[in-house]
Amino acid sequence: MAEKKLQIALYWAAACGGCDVAVLDTNEFILDLAQLADIRLWPIAVDGKYKDVEAMQDGELDVAIFNGAVRNSENEHLAKLLRRKSKILVAFGSCAHMGGIPGLANLARKDEIITRAYLNNPSIEPGNQKTPCPETQVNGFTLHIPQFYKRVYKLNDIVDVDYYVPGCPPAPHQVKAVLLAIAKGDLPPKGAVVGASELTVCDDCRRKKTEKKIRRFYRPYEIIQDPERCLLEQGILCMGAATRSGCGVRCPDTGQGCRGCYGPTANVVDQGAKFLSSLAAIIDSKDPAEIQEIINGLPDFASFAYRFGMPASLLQRSLRT
Ligand code: SF4
Ligand code: SF4
Repeated sequence: MAEKKLQIALYWAAACGGCDVAVLDTNEFILDLAQLADIRLWPIAVDGKYKDVEAMQDGELDVAIFNGAVRNSENEHLAKLLRRKSKILVAFGSCAHMGGIPGLANLARKDEIITRAYLNNPSIEPGNQKTPCPETQVNGFTLHIPQFYKRVYKLNDIVDVDYYVPGCPPAPHQVKAVLLAIAKGDLPPKGAVVGASELTVCDDCRRKKTEKKIRRFYRPYEIIQDPERCLLEQGILCMGAATRSGCGVRCPDTGQGCRGCYGPTANVVDQGAKFLSSLAAIIDSKDPAEIQEIINGLPDFASFAYRFGMPASLLQRSLRT
């Protein structure tokens, strides 16, 4: 008798769509996936409806792969629904894992975001400024749109999560590894970060470190870089020391500093604070005024250091929000 196929769902919440593209980037593995699994919901590719998921038995799905942060009431509804209907829930990609780039919105108030997006946005025609209404009457029907929350949450702020797959987006080999591990029942302990290690990106980086200190920071286009030397020692921001390895050192290998999308290793409480301490160690000055001047050369430190993990940081959000 043929083995029962895995029952899976993939869902895209507050995210850019890159995680779904990462699944498609597994190329012909998608065909193996179709052999291995019935895809019961995958809004980007399969015509499953929310009501079909709502009608399932609890635990009917073997696995739900949830990408994106929780930013509105629809995201929260689907997070809770998929949690109930799935034996295994995977937070897939930086946004579900740590809040991701949408989580940077936690630095602004809800009314500031609405004003910028719908009222003071130069691409909106004058006189056509409207803010979203959660409830609208059309031809005798009431239409609802999701409620926009005051802040962004990572998935495990809302529901219990079984596994985390980091990355913005996760590398395609991780997608395969996760699905094959589930298919074989070869699962790590609950709560594991899958497809990554407890080493840092620096540990895997081939660039040479010489303990040279710096007197200013550069954006990559402001300097002709030495392709062999550590980027940070050339003054180019790189979060390799504060970031979990597993991506294959994708960014430093192409001349860009690591932005931290795999999150911190397990023994680091706050990725941005860890990054700040690696910067402090490299500044070539003991004069507070000069150090301040060098630090002032950093472009928008909070958005850089917490680019993928503001909701997972000790701060979580601006106290103004
Ligand atoms: S700081 Fe960046 S460039 Fe330097 S060793 Fe670490 S990962 Fe490589
Ligand atoms: S080098 Fe850093 S930012 Fe780039 S993919 Fe790897 S973890 Fe993410």
